[in-house]
Amino acid sequence: MTDQCAEPDRDDRVRAHLSLVRALEAGELENLRCPNCGEFSVNVWFTHPARSEYRTWFVCERCHFDSKVMDSERPPHFTPARVCRKLQEHDRAQTRDRKFPPPTKE
Ligand SMILES: [Zn+2]
Repeated sequence: MTDQCAEPDRDDRVRAHLSLVRALEAGELENLRCPNCGEFSVNVWFTHPARSEYRTWFVCERCHFDSKVMDSERPPHFTPARVCRKLQEHDRAQTRDRKFPPPTKE
């Protein structure tokens, strides 16, 4: 058996991600093309898990696709109305985890 049904390779993912980021930079926050299912069903959500941390999420309404960008400053299109509470809780939990890394010494 060959491996033709493998997941798209990393370059494809990076390209798809970049096209979403470009759309975002152009101010498009809704109905972006999903790199996974091909539908125009990706919406942009923001989170603000800590004082100087922001995340930008791309979430497809049709499939399981999601992708996020970490921002160290307020994204230009950030508005409180587009903050997703559920994603923000998720990011807060991750931020907490990172602040308390496991001890390195035995
Ligand atoms: Zn999709």
